[in-house]
Amino acid sequence: MPVCDHCGYEWRRRDVWKKLSVQARGTCPSCGQMQYVTAKSRKRGSMYMLLVFLILIVQAVFEIPLWGSIAMLFALAFVLMTFVIPKVYELTSEQEALY
Ligand SMILES: [Zn+2]
Repeated sequence: MPVCDHCGYEWRRRDVWKKLSVQARGTCPSCGQMQYVTAKSRKRGSMYMLLVFLILIVQAVFEIPLWGSIAMLFALAFVLMTFVIPKVYELTSEQEALY
């Protein structure tokens, strides 16, 4: 789980979803300090998004029906949100440029 750079509070999975999944920044539930997802972990997170394209390619090559690939995308999104994102994300008090 990501840890607050300011107070050391360990974020709950629910906080990560609620605050970080959309904007990649949010206030710490413990101390209220604005926290940003580090550029490094954002890049790492976006690597996993490449898996989505992989599924689309696999779907095209093997002619998997559309509902099959939609089901796979939902399963992948679920796994990413539940296990990968809270693990990969690290927090910092300073906003970093992505590139
Ligand atoms: Zn904090």
